[in-house]
Amino acid sequence: MIYALIIITVIILSSAYLYYKPKPKTTKNIFNAEYYRGLNYLLNNEEDKAFKIFAALMDVDSSTIETHLALGGLYRKRGEFDKAILIHQNLLSRPTLEIELKNQALYELAKDFHSAGLYDRSEKIFKNLSEIKSYKESCSEHLLKIYEVTKDWEKAIELVKSMDTIFINNQQTSPLLAQYYCEISDLYNNQNQTEKAIAISKKALKTNPECIRANYQLAKYYSRNDIRISVQYYYSVIIQNKNFGQYIVGQIISLAKELKNSGMILKILTTVSEIKDMPFIPDIYFFLLYEKDKDTAMTYINFFDRADLVNNFIITHTLASTEEQTDADSIIYDLVNSYKNIFSSRYFFICNNCGYKSNELNWICPSCNTWETIVPKSVVDMMEDGRSSE
Ligand SMILES: [Zn+2]
Repeated sequence: MIYALIIITVIILSSAYLYYKPKPKTTKNIFNAEYYRGLNYLLNNEEDKAFKIFAALMDVDSSTIETHLALGGLYRKRGEFDKAILIHQNLLSRPTLEIELKNQALYELAKDFHSAGLYDRSEKIFKNLSEIKSYKESCSEHLLKIYEVTKDWEKAIELVKSMDTIFINNQQTSPLLAQYYCEISDLYNNQNQTEKAIAISKKALKTNPECIRANYQLAKYYSRNDIRISVQYYYSVIIQNKNFGQYIVGQIISLAKELKNSGMILKILTTVSEIKDMPFIPDIYFFLLYEKDKDTAMTYINFFDRADLVNNFIITHTLASTEEQTDADSIIYDLVNSYKNIFSSRYFFICNNCGYKSNELNWICPSCNTWETIVPKSVVDMMEDGRSSE
C-alpha cells in the first residue's frame, strides 16, 4: 500500500514536472521502457533493482533528476534514511549536475543526515548552503533544530543573534534566546557555579522579561542564601502565570520548613492570597490559620464562591483536615502533610500547546518542541479542567 502511494506520488510529480517544465530535448525518453521497468521493480518490492535502473537512467537522462529528488524525499519521510542518502549522494556524484540542482540535492542530503541523527554531517552542509541567499532562512532553521537537539546552546544563541528575523521555527526570537540562556544557567548551576548561573538567568530575564523559567531559576538560586530575594522571584512567577500558583506556594512552604523562617513566608503568602483571580490554595489557608489567626484564614476562605462545586469540595476537605488536628502545638508543616494525605499534592505537567502530560516540569515540550508551554496542574486543577471541558 505504501509502495503504491510512493509510486503514485512519483508518477504525479514526474508528470507535473514534465508538463510544466520547458521541455528539454531528452524529455521524450523519460517514460521509456526502462523507466517503467524500474517502477515495476518498486511495485514488487525489489527496490535494489529499481534503484539500479533509476541510477542508470540518471546517467543518460538528466530530466529524471527531479523525480529522484522526490523519491529520496519520500524515503526520508518513511524513515528509510539510508535509501534517501543513497539517492541524493548518487545525484551529487554526477559531474555535470547543474549548480541549482546540485544545491537542491545537497539540501535534501543534509535533511537526510539530520533525520538520521548524523548531525555533524548535516550541520556542515546546512552551514555551507546558508551562505546562499535563497537557502539562508531554511538552513538556519534546520541548524537551530540541530543545535537544540545537540544542546549546543552557545551556537544556538550565536545563530539567532545573527538573524534579522523576529520569528524562527514559528517562535519569537527573544523568548527563544532567553530559554537558551536559561539552559546555560542550568549547566552552571549543576556545576555549583551559582554566581555564574545567577548572572546568566538575569541575562535571560533582561532578554525576555516574560521568561517564567528565569524567575524560577533565580528564586531557586537565591533560596540558598537570600530568602527575601528568593520569594520576590517566586512571586514574579505566580504573577506571570497563575497556573504556577499552588506549585510555587508548595515550594515556598518547603523553603520555610528548611529555613524555619515563617515570618517572611507569611508575608508572601498573604500577598499571594490577595492576588486577583487566584484559585483557592489550601496551603495558604493552613499558613494563615496557624501562623496568623483563624479570622484571617476564614476571611481567605470566604473570599471564594462556595457555590462553585470544585471550590466547595476543596474547602470542605481542607476544613475537615484541619479538624483532625487537635494538638494545639502541632506545627504548620504537620498540618500541611496531613492535608497532603487527604488531598494529593501530586502534580502533573501539561503542555498548553499540545496537551502532552508528564510527571516532571520540562521547559521544552518533548512532544511539540515549544518552550515554556508546560504548566503544573494539581489533582484539583485537573478536576477543574475536566469540569470546564464538559
Ligand atoms: Zn507540547
